[in-house]
Amino acid sequence: MMKQKVLLSVNNLKKYYDIPQGLFKEKIIVKAVDDISFTITKGETFALVGESGCGKSTTGRTILKLTEPTGGRIIFDGNDIAALPYKKMRTLRNRMQMVFQDPYASLNPKKTVREILTEPLRVHKKFDHDTRLKKVKSMLEIVGLSEYHLDRYPHEFSGGQRQRIGIARAVILQPDFIIADEPVSALDVSVQSQVINLMLELQKEFELTYLFISHDLSVIQHMTDRVAVMYLGKIVEIAKTEDLFTNPKHPYTKALLSAVPITHPKEKKERIILKGDVPSPANPPSGCTFHPRCPAALDICKTQAPKTSEHGNSHSVSCHLYNKIEEEIPHAISHS
Ligand code: ADP
Ligand code: MG
Repeated sequence: MMKQKVLLSVNNLKKYYDIPQGLFKEKIIVKAVDDISFTITKGETFALVGESGCGKSTTGRTILKLTEPTGGRIIFDGNDIAALPYKKMRTLRNRMQMVFQDPYASLNPKKTVREILTEPLRVHKKFDHDTRLKKVKSMLEIVGLSEYHLDRYPHEFSGGQRQRIGIARAVILQPDFIIADEPVSALDVSVQSQVINLMLELQKEFELTYLFISHDLSVIQHMTDRVAVMYLGKIVEIAKTEDLFTNPKHPYTKALLSAVPITHPKEKKERIILKGDVPSPANPPSGCTFHPRCPAALDICKTQAPKTSEHGNSHSVSCHLYNKIEEEIPHAISHS
């Protein structure tokens, strides 16, 4: 098999926030992203999944340098983003774009579609006036709108149409890489698949690489190649999408999967209800941070953070249940 080109490599990325608290403004540290690593190959759709508050958006924003990392490295197409001088970052910026969850909040309500879509071309000094207009018109067609919409304002569109505009704005600079942060979460289920199909068509047409962020595993099942599952700032499992759905390893992944609606009538599964909410990253539980909610937790989980183990086919998991040899836990595996 041909070795695929790595487009993005995230190494030991950390993003901590200092939050002043209380009467004396003592600082507490929120570890929104806490030492995560992954790579995305060119043309791939890589998903980041986890409940709200797990650090998915912070990861996306840090990769785009919308916020500075506390630690770690982000390498995009061979360039270390942190070390990049302003001018080079600017050129790189138009190769990396973002699509947001709420197209209504991310599109300026006072601007027409014409202005919204021309702006990125103008800011990056691409093309003359006439060529820009041509590009904008053709982009509108590509995302399933038309020239006729040019002078309309965002509020005149449906949610799905607005997201088409948001996507057009991201794609018009012909980027290589798009971070889509919950791009369909605000849309009706019937519209979700249309927007996802559009994203898949654009991916083929423009050879795009996606980081697709979602709290909903069912959305990513049919459109992503690999998945990283995040919990409280850490990646707990990474696998090819099919592997993750057929052979999940981490108890957290199993619980998330158990909430996905069944697609085959013959399939049977038990719904695993997780106890409580995601704890605050300002005061995370000891050991494995998932242990208070984990149906398979062992004693060791309360005190020690698990190591990451590999399970073939680029499937890795961070869980004590799979750190067999060193620790004696055969009794635990049997009831997992
Ligand atoms: P997700 O996208 O998975 O829902 P986020 O990345 O938005 O998660 O947030 C992760 C954690 O970081 C949350 O606990 C959130 O409250 C915290 N957080 C995010 N942004 C900030 C910020 N600017 N200042 C302080 N805390 C933040
Ligand atoms: Mg988010």
